[in-house]
Amino acid sequence: MPLRQSLRIGTYLIRQKLARREKFPLIVELEPLFACNLACAGCGKIQHPASVLKQRMPVEQALAAIEECGAPMVSIAGGEPLMHPQIDLLVNELIKRKKYVFLCTNALLIPKKLDKFKPSRYFAWAVHIDGLAERHDASVCKEGVFDEAVEAVRECQRRGFRVTTNTTFFSTDSPQAVIDVLNYLNDDLKVDQMMISPGYAYEKAPDQEHFLGVTETRELFRKAFGDGNRRRWRLNHSPLFLDFLEGKADFGCTAWGIPSYSLFGWQRPCYLMADGYAKTYAELVETTNWESYGRGKDPRCANCMAHCGYEPSAVLATTASLRESIRAIRGG
Ligand code: SF4
Ligand code: SF4
Repeated sequence: MPLRQSLRIGTYLIRQKLARREKFPLIVELEPLFACNLACAGCGKIQHPASVLKQRMPVEQALAAIEECGAPMVSIAGGEPLMHPQIDLLVNELIKRKKYVFLCTNALLIPKKLDKFKPSRYFAWAVHIDGLAERHDASVCKEGVFDEAVEAVRECQRRGFRVTTNTTFFSTDSPQAVIDVLNYLNDDLKVDQMMISPGYAYEKAPDQEHFLGVTETRELFRKAFGDGNRRRWRLNHSPLFLDFLEGKADFGCTAWGIPSYSLFGWQRPCYLMADGYAKTYAELVETTNWESYGRGKDPRCANCMAHCGYEPSAVLATTASLRESIRAIRGG
């Protein structure tokens, strides 16, 4: 993260500690709609009935949810958030409130919508790129999407926006495929930062065959991170979360740290699973049996190594250790 953002998050964490607040959000996954202009095989969000897919969350409702929970960062996803007619208003209102906003997009609508946005230190695009051309187009089930996404990234960079990427890996990806795409994003496209994730086995996703198990995930990232790659790549994760991905550290799930707010309310326990909804973040925290979730506790969590459960665990472990805090400040 840029230094200013790291300091803000550090201050936020200290404030939570001083207030003895045990459970608090670091970043909210805000889903103001579920509709999308793509139909990726690994997606677990677009299977809602048409009556749900046509709904758009009012801006006031989204802002009220973010203010109630107090998170310093918001990741707007969906669905495709650029299909929301007031997405620019929502982003601007969050920025006015000094929230750090990541707008997650498949990039297809960026050329049409880019004029509505202005660069800000509080704002970054998070473009979905799952691999190089052939691999990405296969992942999103449509030819030509990779080229359009790359073109959109270049235009955003040309206009001075901060651009990050989000890449999900599946069992069809070899360590070399991980290396190739991250080298490309890091060295050729020169995006500001990259996020990576092993694909979560959504029950509703059409492709159930290619999700990674824990052992496969660790092996994949251990091999890909070798030869100094991990140090060289501008990965937007804490060092301990990267240790976790390659099997050098292990944590329990702390899904309350990256909660999900969607058209249905605060999703229990995380944006990957839906065991009901709460009206407020406070209600979510108080009425969820957090101890029953995580690997070894719930069979649906068995293969999960997703950032929404384990990045907050890594961040909390970092802040609890002087050595890890220094390592995080030095960039791993
Ligand atoms: S772009 Fe994202 S929201 Fe749209 S179908 Fe693909 S994974 Fe789902
Ligand atoms: S391990 Fe945590 S983040 Fe993963 S699916 Fe289970 S509750 Fe969600």
